[in-house]
Amino acid sequence: MNTATHILTASAVLARRNQPYRNTAILIGAFLPDLSIFALFAWPKMNGFSQSTIWRELYWQEPWQTFGAISNSFPIWLLVLSVGLMSRSKVMIVVAAAAIIHLALDFPVHADDAHKHFWPLTDWRFHSPLSYWDTNHHSPYVMAGEFVLCLAALVALWLRFSGWLVRSGLVAAMLSLIAVPVFFWATLG
Ligand SMILES: [Zn+2]
Repeated sequence: MNTATHILTASAVLARRNQPYRNTAILIGAFLPDLSIFALFAWPKMNGFSQSTIWRELYWQEPWQTFGAISNSFPIWLLVLSVGLMSRSKVMIVVAAAAIIHLALDFPVHADDAHKHFWPLTDWRFHSPLSYWDTNHHSPYVMAGEFVLCLAALVALWLRFSGWLVRSGLVAAMLSLIAVPVFFWATLG
């Protein structure tokens, strides 16, 4: 799903009032699985590759497949969670929990672009019949569901946090949910 969805949902589940460290850790954990995607977007872009080359070719090649496998690995994040629990590191626990929520939401909505969610134990990928972006895999319905989910998370967070900084972040996250699909539709056609 979209990065903004992951940040909103993990925050709705885990964020607490007046706990800035915990809440920052949630943002980081919810974002980290998508780090490889942002690097894939930024690095080839700086080197002059086109949008369509990035997503239709480079995405499927190394090193991006391995980066994606690492950041989207249930075993790795469960390991981080266990180490956090054993060492009583709240930051580690919250980062891992936010990342696991991210993976759990992605798992049912990646079709052809499924991650190796259980790497390094196995290279198996769950190719879902549903996709959050691919119209060949019912994306309009998934997008509608994603939008409702985000709206619910947004309302929950809006009621929990009254500061202007958080609230403008919420508005920006909601706008990005519209902007990102429009950007890909306009550049990839
Ligand atoms: Zn993701």
